[in-house]
Amino acid sequence: MNNVVGLTCVIFGTTYPADFAGYVCPDHGNEGILDVTYDYDAISEVFTKEALAADPDHTMWRYRPLLPISGNAVVPPLTVGGTPLYDAPALAGAVGVARVWVKDEGREPTASLKDRASAMAVVKAQERGADVRTTASTGNAAAALSGISASVGQRNVIFVPASAPEAKIAQLLAYGSTVALVNGTYGDAFELCMEASAEYGWYNRNTGYNPFMTEGKKTAGLEILEDLGWEAPNAIFVSVGDGSIIGGVHKAMKDAAALGWIDRMPRIYGVQSAGSDYLVQAFEGGEDVLTKAPISADTIADSISADLPRDRIKAMAAVIETGGEYLRVSDDEILAAIPTLARGSGVFAEPAGAAPYAGLVVAAARGLVGPSDRVVLLATGSGLKDVASAMKAVAAAGTEPMRVDPNLEALKAALKH
Ligand SMILES: *Cc1c(COP(=O)(O)O)cnc(C)c1O
Ligand SMILES: [Zn+2]
Repeated sequence: MNNVVGLTCVIFGTTYPADFAGYVCPDHGNEGILDVTYDYDAISEVFTKEALAADPDHTMWRYRPLLPISGNAVVPPLTVGGTPLYDAPALAGAVGVARVWVKDEGREPTASLKDRASAMAVVKAQERGADVRTTASTGNAAAALSGISASVGQRNVIFVPASAPEAKIAQLLAYGSTVALVNGTYGDAFELCMEASAEYGWYNRNTGYNPFMTEGKKTAGLEILEDLGWEAPNAIFVSVGDGSIIGGVHKAMKDAAALGWIDRMPRIYGVQSAGSDYLVQAFEGGEDVLTKAPISADTIADSISADLPRDRIKAMAAVIETGGEYLRVSDDEILAAIPTLARGSGVFAEPAGAAPYAGLVVAAARGLVGPSDRVVLLATGSGLKDVASAMKAVAAAGTEPMRVDPNLEALKAALKH
């Protein structure tokens, strides 16, 4: 943690030392999420855009001076980060903005952006000498922790709601995790995981609790900026469940601004499903997320289903401080975005990964983005994670396969239709 100054409570700003052994601010309990603060002067002495450009390491660890790990920490062998940012002119044309780029996080080793956080968790757990790591998850954080733990031969215990898509559960079991399917919501799984971790002393990776997860996730934001030559886009669209990814994207922008690597902040837009719109409600109503009661979330986009977004303070700050907005999209709009994104960019995303495109459509209709805007969509997870939703999406889009007998005549007849 060479360059870490300390850990600052997001509620009162109390700062704890860099080697603080807890996860949250003791004064505020689980709501007292900590933010890692850095010594940017020290960082800028050793870390420059030029040094970065010359670095052959294209994983997330290329940003090591901006991460809460020591210079010689051993990182897991799986290739995390370095995902492509695709130019998608067809999508830009469809919504009427100057440019659209799609960052394909489905290309991570376990097929979602969560690998960036879980890789960080595995390094931090090793630092603390913990044998077992644990997380609650709607599926992807779990798969990420499982896969990355498997790559270093370490044990983990996973708590997921019993309703998680089968592909995600299969992935956990294949990696050899101990899996608890909890009869309840993600919130229930989270609470049980917290109790078990306290009881058994397991290293806790939980989102919106462990302060280092956002730091891992921010590397996606740093990559976006680096790929764009440190010329910040005008707007970034991020789907939001617990709010840790959007907080991480914001952190990346703040880091880059503090180092003088970008000269303006992109507007950050948070996209939520109408069935899981805690932050949209709070944004529209000007409600305080510290006191706003949980909602009852229900959406096809399982990765962004959250009754009470755990990282909601950072998530709200990401939007407010950058002049963005929280946008509500329906499940139908999310499903429709899956084939549109796939056809317009070649990126096949799960519902939560396609939701940013649905948010862009809404933003364009409301005039929040226009012809001069350069826009980035963060496609957070692969479409193969949730094939059932993809099948629904293509059916709703009116696309069906042809049924043909195995001869050319039959094919010709079918092609005529
Ligand atoms: C976790 C996840 C999200 C939402 O991230 P939060 O930090 O919970 O807001 C979005 N998309 C995918 C694919 C995810 O796995
Ligand atoms: Zn506090």
